[in-house]
Amino acid sequence: MNTVRVSRIAEKKIKQGICILDGVDFQKQNLTNTVVKLVSEQGKFLGTAYLSQQNKGVGWLVSRAAIELNQTFFEDVLHQAKLKRQTFHDSEWTTAYRVFNQDGDGFGGLSIDLYNDYAVFSWYNPFVYSIKERIVDAFRVVYPEIQGAYEKIRFKGVDYDSAHLYGQEAPSTFTIFENGVAYKVFLNDGLMTGIFLDQHEVRASLVDGLATGKSLLNMFSYTAAFSVAAAMGGARQTTSVDLAKRSRELSQAHFDANGLEMDHHQLVVMDVFDYFKYAKRHGLYFDVIVLDPPSFARNKKQTFSVAKDYHKLIAQSLDILSPAGIIIASTNASNVSLERFKKEIEKGFVGVKHQYLANYRLPSDFVYNKNDESSNYLKVFTIQVQK
Ligand code: SAH
Repeated sequence: MNTVRVSRIAEKKIKQGICILDGVDFQKQNLTNTVVKLVSEQGKFLGTAYLSQQNKGVGWLVSRAAIELNQTFFEDVLHQAKLKRQTFHDSEWTTAYRVFNQDGDGFGGLSIDLYNDYAVFSWYNPFVYSIKERIVDAFRVVYPEIQGAYEKIRFKGVDYDSAHLYGQEAPSTFTIFENGVAYKVFLNDGLMTGIFLDQHEVRASLVDGLATGKSLLNMFSYTAAFSVAAAMGGARQTTSVDLAKRSRELSQAHFDANGLEMDHHQLVVMDVFDYFKYAKRHGLYFDVIVLDPPSFARNKKQTFSVAKDYHKLIAQSLDILSPAGIIIASTNASNVSLERFKKEIEKGFVGVKHQYLANYRLPSDFVYNKNDESSNYLKVFTIQVQK
């Protein structure tokens, strides 16, 4: 095994329990896609890691001990992770959830989700991908009940992004449940599956009555999952806005799965900023507005980033929000801290009185690294306007 010396800063981070390895913390070295022994500048052993280029970071610390990444290691971490999800495992109301979440479960660069009897593996870098057989073999020992699996490639350099991985093939679309609400998912069509599982609790708040009797505007709606949750929770009316044409049929599928008629549910294919203008011009008002944009988006006219532009979404929502209306402000941008996100939100509220009702972070199946705040990337605030 190769030995890699790390800077004092990296040593400090490792001792704090941060697992993601940052390129700037390493002295120049050419190793990649391999397991290494990390040592301090003085040559003191710090832990076992692997190096591999991914979207964020150049590798992961796996353990502070000298270990081997063999099948037994993966069986152990998968088994421990399974024990932590017992309540999800036992639930009849929620059948799709995360069973392995990167460094939160002791091995960064890998996540695994269950959708009924099928698993979806996400590989975040070439090294994890190169040892996938070992990981899958371990998984099949720990989860003999799972019928089949798919894989998602979340790094550059492989010429496909989704494929069947083992076992029985899932139907091209099928129904999963979350808090008793049905959603239609697809496991082998690009990187997305029709639902973002990390929003379990926010959808639960809508099912549980946050929008009962109310109208709801769902911006950046993708498959309109928030709208469907609200409709099942008794919302009077929902409007879902997304730029992608395909969002319409995918949203329709979620509504159909619950036997919801579309009379009071509208699916709009439009840029959200155009919709804000449209709604204002037509004097439309909404009791609840959900704002859950991608961290970064670029279209022909403009770029949008949560870090710099989120306040615009708040400000424009205020123009079309009913008195005492509620904004659900959400972001999954890991580079934007809770404090920074709140600052952006406050910038949008200038002079408008408001009250924070609830704050959601990652749900309990998305076990994050308690020593690395940025791994708890989801930030959602439910805010009531007083006017
Ligand atoms: N809120 C969704 C997930 C949003 S994913 C959910 O809970 O499932 C981001 C979505 O934003 C994508 O579907 C993308 O098509 C859409 N999008 C990106 N830029 C947009 C824009 N300017 N206007 C409308 N939709 C946009």
